[in-house]
Amino acid sequence: MEPKTLISEADIRRRVSELAAQISRDYAGKENVVLLAVLKGAFIFLADLARQLPVPHRVEFMALSSYGKGSASSGQVRVEMDVRDSIEGSHVIVIEDIIDTGRTLRYLIDLLKTRHPASVATCSLVRKQDRHEVEVEIDYLGFDIPDVFVVGYGLDYAEQYRTLPYIGIVEPSGS
Ligand code: 5GP
Ligand code: MG
Repeated sequence: MEPKTLISEADIRRRVSELAAQISRDYAGKENVVLLAVLKGAFIFLADLARQLPVPHRVEFMALSSYGKGSASSGQVRVEMDVRDSIEGSHVIVIEDIIDTGRTLRYLIDLLKTRHPASVATCSLVRKQDRHEVEVEIDYLGFDIPDVFVVGYGLDYAEQYRTLPYIGIVEPSGS
């Protein structure tokens, strides 16, 4: 079944351009800018955002897994794949797909800060409002959304829907 549209392709495109412009202004003239995308969900967002950034930058990837019962994030995060090159002295911008409880991002920021970057900023396409359980600041945010399960634009449901061009809601099956 086709997911119901929550954020259209056009709205995403417009917002990504705005975020790119904002980041470009803030990082103008800075050296060693690193876009660090969290796999797998952030890969589409990274690709669109990075191609609109005139600021010289490199890209890095990390894969994280969080352990919890069912789909809830427990805060027990593990690094499944780490960055290829050191981030020491770099201006790191973490690129995330979605912030739910905030636990995954909180863990990642704390980890990165032990590696002596010049700075760490955060950028997420969407955030679930009223869901954050831990304090974590998002410097660049695309959209606040209600507490619904979303797919598309990198986000999956059992590895499906990642390449859907919009963000949509899947109706739970069998209900
Ligand atoms: P947090 O640690 O912020 O609770 O969890 C964030 C992670 O949970 C995201 O990176 C994503 O993997 C998963 N997640 C949370 N909400 C959703 C959602 O609505 N859709 C999808 N596809 N993943 C979600
Ligand atoms: Mg994620």
